[in-house]
Amino acid sequence: MHALEALWFTVVNWLSFHLVAPALAAVHLTRLIDNPQEIAQYFLLTAIQVAVIAFVFRPMESLWPLEEWAERKGTRIDRAYTLIKLFGLLPLVSYGVIAPIGHLLGGGGDDDASGIFSLQGAFPWLGHHPVVLFLAYYAIYDFVYYVVHRLQHRIPWWWALHSLHHSQKQLNCWSNDRDHYLDDLLEVICVSTVSVVIGVSPTEFALLVLIGELLQNFDHSNIRFRFGPVLDKILVDPKYHRLHHMIVDPDRPGLHDCNYSFVFPIWDILFGTALYGEPARPTGVGDPMVDADNTRGIVGQQLGVMKRFWASIRCKAGWRPGDVAFDENHRPVSVEEFDLHALEASQTPLSAVRDSR
Ligand SMILES: [Zn+2]
Ligand SMILES: [Zn+2]
Repeated sequence: MHALEALWFTVVNWLSFHLVAPALAAVHLTRLIDNPQEIAQYFLLTAIQVAVIAFVFRPMESLWPLEEWAERKGTRIDRAYTLIKLFGLLPLVSYGVIAPIGHLLGGGGDDDASGIFSLQGAFPWLGHHPVVLFLAYYAIYDFVYYVVHRLQHRIPWWWALHSLHHSQKQLNCWSNDRDHYLDDLLEVICVSTVSVVIGVSPTEFALLVLIGELLQNFDHSNIRFRFGPVLDKILVDPKYHRLHHMIVDPDRPGLHDCNYSFVFPIWDILFGTALYGEPARPTGVGDPMVDADNTRGIVGQQLGVMKRFWASIRCKAGWRPGDVAFDENHRPVSVEEFDLHALEASQTPLSAVRDSR
């Protein structure tokens, strides 16, 4: 174990000295970032994450596919989303924007684990039980994600953004990062606010994110796999999350309102949103306006989603909780107002529905 640790730090030091520090100097950012080792460690962990997706989850999709696809063309855009986010946007925002602001405000150090409500402050013995402390942080973090995820589906303007994640009909090992960037930003603000309140240090927070990410990559994979009747109540598996992505069933319109948990299904079980034992259904969104995301590239998707987001926040219906579809003017319409069978069959945006409200 010590040899492995030593090897890890050797690689991190080598990367930070030979790659990260010169790269920062080249873009005149040395002053802003005082620890190139932290960045080297981030890139190394991310490279491992991407390697696990590409060389473990992806071959598993070929060996044990849940859905048989003639080709995987629709999955390529999700791979691009993942690479852009993990190697570009995330480090740029974390180390180029958030870290410098944190330092300017005088915080952000790794010893700075005191929050408004610090778990360690409230329960000092947790300080001597790092594994329990870590699990407690993780549970809180996962619960916040659960609440945010319920809102992403419930509030029409937030669904306007989150529906991009759901429009994928070939759900695959890269799909976890297929998100609208504004949706990502809102999610990060909610979760990091909580982490500041309960007092998680930045390093702990980064580790929390990475562990959860890998499980979520696995859970989006097109793999015929489940953890079994006991473990699948403790951890989310691919079958479980796939049910969350199911396309609406017009005969059972509330069925897809399930399985919001990211890591621990306990939140779904406690709040009555867990669904087990249902055979897998095709994934995607029945609303033709959302489904049209699949005809666009990344820039087209980001802009197209902004249209329905913008139209939603400017009308009352955009703030009224409930399931919606979007009309030809990108405005949300409650799904209770129309026939889901007709919606499933229609290939064109909703028409006339707006007038009937
Ligand atoms: Zn969702
Ligand atoms: Zn998902």
